[in-house]
Amino acid sequence: MRVAIDGLTVRFGPVTAVDGLALEIRDRELLALVGPSGCGKTTTLGFVAGFVKTAAGRLSFDDRDVTAVPPERRRIGYVFQDYAIYPHMTVAENIRFPLEVARMARGDMRRAVADVAELVGVSDLMPRRPHQLSGGQRQRVALARALVKRPGVLLLDEPLSNLDAHLRVQTRAEIRRLQLELGMTTILVTHDQSEALAIADRVAVMWAGRVVALASPGAIYDRPASLLAARFVGSPQMNTWDLAEAASEFARVALGGALADVRRSARGVVVGVRPEDVRLDPRGVPGTVALVETLGRDILLHADVAGSSVRALVTPADASRLRTGAAVAVSVHPQRWHFFDAESGDRVEPLAPAATDRSGGHGGPVAAVR
Ligand code: ATP
Repeated sequence: MRVAIDGLTVRFGPVTAVDGLALEIRDRELLALVGPSGCGKTTTLGFVAGFVKTAAGRLSFDDRDVTAVPPERRRIGYVFQDYAIYPHMTVAENIRFPLEVARMARGDMRRAVADVAELVGVSDLMPRRPHQLSGGQRQRVALARALVKRPGVLLLDEPLSNLDAHLRVQTRAEIRRLQLELGMTTILVTHDQSEALAIADRVAVMWAGRVVALASPGAIYDRPASLLAARFVGSPQMNTWDLAEAASEFARVALGGALADVRRSARGVVVGVRPEDVRLDPRGVPGTVALVETLGRDILLHADVAGSSVRALVTPADASRLRTGAAVAVSVHPQRWHFFDAESGDRVEPLAPAATDRSGGHGGPVAAVR
């Protein structure tokens, strides 16, 4: 089922939680809604579920306007962060509950519960009560309960945030497997960008009630449409410098001759480079090591280079020679820079120098890419 949200604005008193949002989730797609705390993710999901009463906007499923349809008739399954399974009921009773409310026939009910329990892998937990389950098991029961009515749309609000790191990685893969198996249109709300990149077909980055970027995980990482998305997606975070500020000296030196083209691309420019695209390079810009952080497989190097603070992801072999205060030199491959309009935050692409350009071969028109 295709889900379209159009012109959604939600205000809570003086707070605008969602601000004119338009978003389409394709049939069978897993769309991740990411963004910092308070940016309006849960409110948007609540609108799709039908829980948000103060909303202005339109919601359609396929081409049917369902804005006025009450929540229980929307054919939606949802799982929230706190599991929300009933503590006084067994696993079987929890999963069966939505079917009882819908007054399904006994035989059909038994079959539906057994099928979904099998699918989600909780068949052998049926007689237990929630307090006898692990966090991951409880989350699976919540998922089974959300799926038992075979909803058209699955809404997941931070479903993994109560789980430990290992279980989170394992459970997110299970969710993805199930979602693909059932071909279920799914919206996953998370503040964890790595979770979104790992399992979503597309990622929507929200900021202050708006979608500031929407693309596949690969595209949002490689070519973020806005500065906010560039800073939010990717860990460790992208290095960014406003060329108008003194602290951008490293970028100005490293860009060298290309700087003229960059400056033509917008009145003000913020440049960015991901830490893995900053290389140790004896012929690069010299600086000193400020801090060496071990991240596991990689090492995150913080360096002071030409008065700029630069983060670089390097290998342990490279880092073995690096100590706080040691000399270091870094460079960036010319293709690995990102450019953003300092005012709007939109991505800009400096075009290659135009052959007809009479100004001396640099610059030319500039395309702003959304
Ligand atoms: P988080 O990741 O912290 O859950 P979120 O992106 O899901 O955040 P929302 O819960 O949608 O954000 O909240 C968006 C804004 O609306 C916040 O400023 C929040 O304080 C406010 N808000 C949400 N619900 C209500 C409410 N019922 N009454 C008043 N303000 C609310």
